[in-house]
Amino acid sequence: MDYAGFLAQRLDGKVQKIAVDAGLSCPNRDGTLGWGGCTYCDNRAFNPPYCDRAMSVTQQIEAGKCFFANKYPDMRYLVYFQAYTATHASFEHLRSLYDEALSVDGVVGLVLATRPDCVTDELLDYLQQVNESHMVIVELGVETAHDRTLQLVNRCHDWTSSLMAIERIAARNIAVGVHLILGLPGESDDDMCSTVTQISQLPVSLVKFHQLQVLRGTVLARQVERGEVMVRDWTAQQYAELCARLATLLRSDIVVERWVAQAPPSMVITPRWGLKPAQFQQLLDSK
Ligand code: SF4
Repeated sequence: MDYAGFLAQRLDGKVQKIAVDAGLSCPNRDGTLGWGGCTYCDNRAFNPPYCDRAMSVTQQIEAGKCFFANKYPDMRYLVYFQAYTATHASFEHLRSLYDEALSVDGVVGLVLATRPDCVTDELLDYLQQVNESHMVIVELGVETAHDRTLQLVNRCHDWTSSLMAIERIAARNIAVGVHLILGLPGESDDDMCSTVTQISQLPVSLVKFHQLQVLRGTVLARQVERGEVMVRDWTAQQYAELCARLATLLRSDIVVERWVAQAPPSMVITPRWGLKPAQFQQLLDSK
């Protein structure tokens, strides 16, 4: 099943995700856990043009609705709190943001992108209630099951925290999505296969795969330039071959929302494949 099928199974009709930037930060950037963030991170790589943190949540959703207005009649929306860590604030503040989003006409649910160490019981109690009348998906940046890699890229959390977060969220019947990065420094194909095998044993509903992208101005870009860190110099063909292998290891009911990431080309140092997700899917299907 693809992502559209996953949503259609749970919601009647067409649903569009609208990203909002709620002005939140990240504990790995604001000193709560660390400064400077994960070595590869630049949030500008995935913030759509209609997201503007100077606007309210409602204004951003309405701007997103205009952006997608002509796609389908009777469209309904999932609000995607995507920028930085969408659950990193006081519970009262988070609840006011999410409640505002849910009050906008046409909104049928929330997708929250966050870290495994940023999901409190108080928040999950609230989301469990929301989940009874709306769709809720919590997307966790897991990235890899290997602690040595998590340390190398300065994630400031370990695999155990991912395991615990996945179990705690799923225990409340809330859909769990995980982000995994392929090609992290020092990881072999077998390491990535091992991560996917372990994810397949957990109550995960969705996975997003990303190829590691070295983005201009990041810590990773400087480390690579100085020769301190090696990253894979691989072709889209080679990446597709690995993805085909991972697909055989992934539990069959886990939905792959995406196999490739797509930062704006001007930000990307490597790899510069220039492939859109649909083009990559064709490549993958040929394997
Ligand atoms: S990747 Fe996520 S957790 Fe890491 S610094 Fe960026 S926003 Fe924070």
